Amino acid sequence: MSENKQRLEIVTPQRKVFSEEVDFLVAPGAEGELGILPNHAALITSLNIGIMRIEQDGKKFKVFVSGGFMEVRNSRVTVLATAAERTEEIDVARAEAARKRAEDRIAAKAPDLDLIRAELALQRALMRLKAASEK
Ligand code: ATP
Repeated sequence: MSENKQRLEIVTPQRKVFSEEVDFLVAPGAEGELGILPNHAALITSLNIGIMRIEQDGKKFKVFVSGGFMEVRNSRVTVLATAAERTEEIDVARAEAARKRAEDRIAAKAPDLDLIRAELALQRALMRLKAASEK
């Protein structure tokens, strides 16, 4: 691997979403956005629902992550996420339906409403729609 590259792996329980050498990335760290260049100091952090921004050979692209963990060590960045999709993989109609379902559930205030669960589903849907619209 060249000196100014780092290997980025994004995996979910279902599949390997991404495994390539990249120049730079920005991750949605639990305590704020984290920019990672090759030879970054070792770290482990949890991730928020958000968008990873990746630069590779002058190209820029984005990957939605539904939260999880990121480890950086020896110019290797490993992201373990419950779910992740490259922007072109996002099914916009499905995300719209998920957004509506979550909004309706929150508005209906049923006595058995799990508000945190509904809000997290809403955040995932809104972030997927944002990622897809920015691609
Ligand atoms: P839904 O209610 O539509 O299932 P969700 O936010 O609950 O949405 P997740 O639990 O985050 O879904 O993801 C479950 C699986 O479905 C993952 O493999 C994820 O990549 C995939 N997935 C969910 N929503 C989309 C979407 N809009 N486009 C593409 N893949 C999706």
